[in-house]
Amino acid sequence: DVPRRSWMDKLRQGLRKTGSSIAQVFTGTQIDDALYEELEAALLMADAGVKATEFLLADLKRRVKEAKATEPSAVRGLLVQALTDLLKPLEKPLTVGEHSPTVMMVVGVNGAGKTTSIGKLTRHFADSGLKVLLAAADTFRAAAREQLAVWADRNQVEIVSQEGGDPSAVTFDAVTAGRARGRDVVIADTAGRLPTQLHLMEELKKIRRVIGKAQADAPHEVLLVVDGNTGQNALSQVKSFDEALGLTGLIVTKLDGTAKGGVLAAIARERPIPVYFIGVGEKLEDLQTFNAAEFAQALLE
Ligand code: GDP
Repeated sequence: DVPRRSWMDKLRQGLRKTGSSIAQVFTGTQIDDALYEELEAALLMADAGVKATEFLLADLKRRVKEAKATEPSAVRGLLVQALTDLLKPLEKPLTVGEHSPTVMMVVGVNGAGKTTSIGKLTRHFADSGLKVLLAAADTFRAAAREQLAVWADRNQVEIVSQEGGDPSAVTFDAVTAGRARGRDVVIADTAGRLPTQLHLMEELKKIRRVIGKAQADAPHEVLLVVDGNTGQNALSQVKSFDEALGLTGLIVTKLDGTAKGGVLAAIARERPIPVYFIGVGEKLEDLQTFNAAEFAQALLE
């Protein structure tokens, strides 16, 4: 359908530079060491990282041998398959409905696209007829609170917010209100940076604990929003937030920009946490579910 096609176009545009440098590798006449060396360089340039690159090359060589391929052009198709298989474990839908409410804690460094993604998620749930309540737990930044309030207003959903309040207290109140009012989903926006004397991970761990006090089995989702343009930095964010909080899913944003895209391969190889959504623009409809085959195709064509 049309909307899906148009976001695929945005993804392709974002990945085009990477794609063309990888495509270049397959224009030669032979499958030889030089081809694999060029491919290695192109994958590293695309932010796939050393581990995923080595894995993909070894896997690809095996596939080339098995298929008895002789033309470089055939290698590209095999690489699409290898990358699809590598990315496949990241493909998982975000489901809601088993809990009332389902509580989601959304984390990520400032500028990653956290607030925007929460706005998009809210619309996504509201469109499915679910009742959403937002918690503005980034109480340190007035702008963050205001921005979230704009999204709440736009989507006509309730928001629990308190100027300068304690992030954990705001979240506790929101989850309690969500339970009392029979909401389906509570989404907590959190800070991406704190005043210098405070430690972000400690504060986030505290919010996580307090959510569990407001509702025994919560949070049901701990989502990290990462900027797809930040390459290996995105991978280290995934690792450190996962170690501190135990992530259940990722939202990878800005893949419409100058994203290199290979970072998803690095995540798949080194910290395979489901990618619930990818962001391909600033509009509401620019949050899309992740599909490994489509992504591999878009990256390598
Ligand atoms: P936060 O600090 O993590 O809450 O980040 P924001 O949600 O405020 O987003 C930072 C900037 O990135 C804003 O200008 C957003 O419009 C922009 N942004 C967020 N997601 C995407 C995306 O998928 N693509 C593009 N091109 N821009 C995005």
